[in-house]
Amino acid sequence: MTPVSDRHGRPLRNLRISVTDRCNLRCQYCMPEEEYVWLPRAEILQFEEITALVDAFGDLGVDKVRLTGGEPLLRRDLYRLIHLLAARTGLRDLAITTNGVLLAEQAPALRAAGLHRVTVSLDTLRPDRFTALTRRTTHAQVLEGLRAVPAAGFADTKIDTVVIRGVNEDELADLIEFGRTVPAEVRFIEYMDVGGATRWSMDQVVGRAEMLKILERRYGAIEPVREVSSAPADRYRLPDGLVFGIIASTTAPFCASCDRSRLTADGIWYRCLYAVRGIDLRGPLRAGADRAALRDVIASGWQVRTDRGAEERLQLRHRSPLIQVARLREDPHLEMHTRGG
Ligand code: SAM
Repeated sequence: MTPVSDRHGRPLRNLRISVTDRCNLRCQYCMPEEEYVWLPRAEILQFEEITALVDAFGDLGVDKVRLTGGEPLLRRDLYRLIHLLAARTGLRDLAITTNGVLLAEQAPALRAAGLHRVTVSLDTLRPDRFTALTRRTTHAQVLEGLRAVPAAGFADTKIDTVVIRGVNEDELADLIEFGRTVPAEVRFIEYMDVGGATRWSMDQVVGRAEMLKILERRYGAIEPVREVSSAPADRYRLPDGLVFGIIASTTAPFCASCDRSRLTADGIWYRCLYAVRGIDLRGPLRAGADRAALRDVIASGWQVRTDRGAEERLQLRHRSPLIQVARLREDPHLEMHTRGG
């Protein structure tokens, strides 16, 4: 293994792989439009192609892989990919981020294939709110999916909640209490102005400080958990010992320690969630590049990385959605659901 660092000394450790750009929800903060331009099917990477890329990334220091999308459980026979990846001994962490709709039926097969951990995105405990937010009526399936996670033998489960003013900031404590029963650690994510969030505005962002204030009203003094970690979430402890996280990616970005990058389902590699340009890895892969050649392409891409996308957004005086709808239609890679959130 030959670890690489970027121009700011950040290692390449963490790879998020989008296995499909399709989704079975239409969350207002991610996919608010009626119509989308989808990636051509022939360009979607086969499982063996993804595995070949993971091997090359692994040679350069990637030891954490997260499958995402789109909705990753929509990818047919996903357990086969997990089986291939789980055989890579260099992978310390193999996880998935899912909306949970299809989880109850798939959790046992995912576990048997060797998946380590599951994160479920859940923004509300109220079915009517879920329907308004996602434009789908599958809330009960998500809750059933979450219950199936520990039953299938998974531990260290997380619930990720995007907090939006006027939508769900009154449910923070309820979600923490729900997490206790799963059990799952809840992480609150600040609403981000990423591609696809075409209705984003700063006044809808509930920042970390405000979230803590809301929770202290309910629980009393909340202590930060002191730990050294490259994880994006700052963790906090309630007076009774329960731990939850806050990912303050909008008001306090973690660019300085960001060791993550993203691979789209068609093999374009993005070194920052906010980057408008990616590096095509499908081209060399399908042209016959071997592991060493792929490693060279990735290493040279990472060594010149200077991205600090979220920090640059923070410097702006007037902040509005990152990318307009017309531009998203021209290049769907700019969408969060293509890039893999
Ligand atoms: N479909 C899967 C899911 O729902 O978890 C994986 C893909 S989804 C794009 C990944 C995560 O990105 C979800 O937790 C979602 O809530 C989050 N997300 C999408 N748009 C966001 C935004 N504008 N701000 C913050 N988080 C966002």
